Amino acid sequence: MKEIILLKDGEIALKGLNRSSFEDKLIKNAKRRIAPTGSYRCYKAQSTIYIEPRDEEADIDEAVARLQKVFGIAALCRACVVEKDFDLICSTALSYLDEQLREAATFKVKAKRSDKSFPYDSPKICSELGGVILDHYPHLKVDVNDPELIVTVEIREFGAYIHAKQLPGAGGMPVGTSGKAALLISGGIDSPVAGYMMAKRGLELIPIHFVSPPYTSDRAKLKVITLVHKMTAYCGRLPMYVVNLTRIQEAIKDCCPEDLFTVIMRRFMMMISERLALKEQCSALITGESLAQVASQTVHAIGCTDAASSLPVLRPLIGMDKEEIITISRKIDTFETSIEPYEDCCTVFTPKHPKTKPTLAMVTEAEAKIPGMEEMIAEAVESVEVILVTDKGAKGYIE
Ligand code: ATP
Ligand code: MG
Repeated sequence: MKEIILLKDGEIALKGLNRSSFEDKLIKNAKRRIAPTGSYRCYKAQSTIYIEPRDEEADIDEAVARLQKVFGIAALCRACVVEKDFDLICSTALSYLDEQLREAATFKVKAKRSDKSFPYDSPKICSELGGVILDHYPHLKVDVNDPELIVTVEIREFGAYIHAKQLPGAGGMPVGTSGKAALLISGGIDSPVAGYMMAKRGLELIPIHFVSPPYTSDRAKLKVITLVHKMTAYCGRLPMYVVNLTRIQEAIKDCCPEDLFTVIMRRFMMMISERLALKEQCSALITGESLAQVASQTVHAIGCTDAASSLPVLRPLIGMDKEEIITISRKIDTFETSIEPYEDCCTVFTPKHPKTKPTLAMVTEAEAKIPGMEEMIAEAVESVEVILVTDKGAKGYIE
């Protein structure tokens, strides 16, 4: 018995003339993600993508689990492939789908016959196989309108495919089909969720993390690398940029009013991220900001932060409550890491009473007192550390 995996795309189907390029990207992403589980032949036919193991070695369970996290797939199912012999099709359906047939109360058989030389037409396949199933599972009833289980038989050129239960896919658009964006990622709960949400809409991510040694530790940085590593299950390999903000933070502390520290630091993050983003052909920045969550996320503070960069800033969490964000964070398995108690550069030199209604004029006036701003930004951009994070880990950090 040979098993294969069928992928149904979702929104891609609405893409008209561009559909093919979206599907090609999806196949490329899927192939890459399941490569560690075996060798596969991947191809598309009639709005379905077929993933066929080339040998017995492939770990299909692991491949299915990985594919359930690939954006662009609405649903997937495992199918059994047999020779186009009707008796063999029936006996295989009974054995291969045994568990599903036992658990269901109602079913129907659906047949697709693209090989017209097969002696039975679709209605005949349905009635004959339906009869065989009823004989073996007397508890089952046929329901053609709303069955619990649809047993599908496809008679194709190279064989007959038998499948039933569909598994949910991750939905969204294939990563890369919307271009690239830089994700400002901290060690918190929000930013990994923001990255996940935008990757789901087809953006390829470049995570950027700011550190402030010796105020922030190597352990805090490793925490963020761990978060990025968890995100690779959905996003594929991620080149993470680590930027040193120490000198800038000290300069802000020395030259600016304390109640504006955070918003000015946020503006520096934006300016540096914009430069890195443009170098990497990114068309947007992404943050995990949520309106009113903290003083630096009031509309006034966000207005000041926005003005520091001319790239669009995507804030997918802006209207979400913390509980809603945490639900997604648990789903994508970043929550437990996010709540580990390590410091972030945002918690260094935190003002006791941050201004909740800063104006751009106030902020730019304060920034004008910082000497050598341009030179410090250029230095931060030039001295970035790039860490390639893949599903296997990150060299020198997670191995
Ligand atoms: P998070 O849970 O993502 O840390 P938060 O609610 O703690 O968010 P802030 O610390 O105010 O919020 O940060 C707001 C946003 O600024 C973050 O979502 C992230 O996009 C960005 N940010 C904060 N700290 C860093 C950092 N050290 N490096 C990169 N981006 C950061
Ligand atoms: Mg934070």
